[in-house]
Amino acid sequence: MSQGILVINAGSSSIKFAVFGNGDHSEPELRVKGQIEGLAGDPAFQVKNSEGHTIDRHNGWPHGVALSHADALRFILGWLRENMGQTEIVAAGHRVVHGGLVYDQAVRIDAKVIADLDQLAPLAPLHQPHNLAAIRALAEIAPDLPQVACFDTAFHRSQPRVAQLFALPRKLLDSGVRRYGFHGLSYEYIAHKLPEYAPNAKRVVVAHLGSGASMCAIRDGRSVESTMGFTTVDGLPMGTRTGGMDPGVVLYLMQDRGYDVKAIEKLLYKESGLIGLSGVSNDMRDLLCSDDPHAAEAVDVFVYHVLKYTGALTAVLGGLDALVFTAGIGENSPQIRERVCSKLEWLGIRLDEAANAQGGPLISTADSAVPAWVIPTNEESMIALHTRRVLR
Ligand code: AMP
Repeated sequence: MSQGILVINAGSSSIKFAVFGNGDHSEPELRVKGQIEGLAGDPAFQVKNSEGHTIDRHNGWPHGVALSHADALRFILGWLRENMGQTEIVAAGHRVVHGGLVYDQAVRIDAKVIADLDQLAPLAPLHQPHNLAAIRALAEIAPDLPQVACFDTAFHRSQPRVAQLFALPRKLLDSGVRRYGFHGLSYEYIAHKLPEYAPNAKRVVVAHLGSGASMCAIRDGRSVESTMGFTTVDGLPMGTRTGGMDPGVVLYLMQDRGYDVKAIEKLLYKESGLIGLSGVSNDMRDLLCSDDPHAAEAVDVFVYHVLKYTGALTAVLGGLDALVFTAGIGENSPQIRERVCSKLEWLGIRLDEAANAQGGPLISTADSAVPAWVIPTNEESMIALHTRRVLR
C-alpha cells in the first residue's frame, strides 16, 4: 500500500481531480488525472494515467440527470477505491480561488477556515461557492480525511502595497476592495520550475494564456504585479471575459441601456473577450483558422494586450531577464507566441522560429538579449506539493 494525495479543482459544472504519490520528490509523482464534466446534466467521467492515456470513461448516468458535488466526489472516491486500491488517499488538496488578505499560504481546512472562505464568496462568486461545496461535501463523505486549501491569490500577497491598492477611499480599501491577483498556483509552479531552465533570471514576466488569461511580474521568485486585480475579469481579454475595461462602461450600460447586475455579470464574464469580439468562438484554435475578419480582429486585440502588459510589467520590474509562456494558448500556439515576440525585439527578444514551432522550451535565439521560454504549467502538482507540506 502506498500513500496518495487527492487534488480537487471544483467548478460550477465540473470537478477535476488528480492523484499524486505522497513521496519526497520535489515534483510530486502523478498517478492519475481525471474529471467529471456536465454536472448540471448528462455527466461524463474520464480518467487518464500519468502518460495521458485514457484508462476509463463512464457516461452511463440516466439522460438529463444532474450530479451534486457530493455525488460526483462519491463517484470519484468509489472509482479510486475500486481501481487504485493499492493507494491510500491520505489527504485532499483543493484549489480555492480566493484566500483574501489573510491566507497568504495553503492551510489545513477546519470550521474556521470554511467560515472565513465563505465570507470571501462574494469576491469570487463564480468560483468560490463551488470550491467550498466540494470541501463541505468531502468533509461529510470522509470526515477523517485531512483537507488543505491552496489559494489562487496567495502567491500574490508578496506584491508591494502600491500594487495592491486601488485609488479608492481608505474605508473601501480597508474593507478588502483591492487588487488580489489570481492564477497564483500556476505562477508559483513556474517560479518553482524556472531555476531549472534559467537559473539567473531574476526579473521574469510570465504570460499564463489560457481560456482564462493573465500575466505576472515575478522578481526573485515572488510576485510583484499581476494583470488580474479584484476579480478574475481584469487585465487581458480572455475566452469569454472582457479583461480590463473602463468602469464607466458599466455605469453607462446600467443607467442608459437597462442592464441589471446579472446582465452585467453575464456580459463581463461570459459574453465578451474572444467570443464577444469574434462572434465565432472563445477558442483560440478556432479563431486562428477562421476566415472571419472579426475572428482575426479578436486575435489582434488579444495579442495587443499581451504586448501592452509585457511593457507595463517590464517597467515594474525595471528590466527583463526572461519571458515565459504557459497554459493552453501559451504552451500550444506557436502563432500567438510568434506574434507577441516579433513585436518585442525592442526589448531584446529574438525569436528562434524553428524552436518556437517545436514548442521550445527555449524559443529565442542564442544571441537574444532576453530569453523567451515555453514552460508547461502544473497547478495540480503545486497543490499536491502544498498539501504535502501542510500535512507534514
Ligand atoms: P487552458 O485554460 O489553459 O486549459 O487553455 C485552454 C485554451 O487553450 C483553449 O480554449 C484554446 O483556446 C487554447 N489552445 C489549446 N491548444 C491550442 C493551440 N494549439 N493553439 C491555440 N490555442 C490553443
